[in-house]
Amino acid sequence: MSAPEDAGSGPSTGPGPVDGTACGCDEAVERLWEYVDSELGDLDQKRVQAHLDECAPCLEEEHVEVVLKQLVRRCCQEEAPAALRLRIREQLTVLRQRAGAEPEA
Ligand SMILES: [Zn+2]
Repeated sequence: MSAPEDAGSGPSTGPGPVDGTACGCDEAVERLWEYVDSELGDLDQKRVQAHLDECAPCLEEEHVEVVLKQLVRRCCQEEAPAALRLRIREQLTVLRQRAGAEPEA
């Protein structure tokens, strides 16, 4: 008579909501476009923003290029429209400035 206990319960539960408000890199990247386009719900919007605030790699332009390619592929186009690139860059610039804002003495 032994009750099987789940001994494999660890911190790695795969993709999903983590404790707190910030989401993971994968989710942030996946939702970047929706975020830029203000299509996310209030909660998701906050989670993505919370992540971007703390995760520099997600704000790197190189990373953005990868995201753009994924997005474009999903949309069955070959190249990201210039307007789309510009829009995401602008949003990221704002985010970067916000994240790196230091009080100047
Ligand atoms: Zn990240």
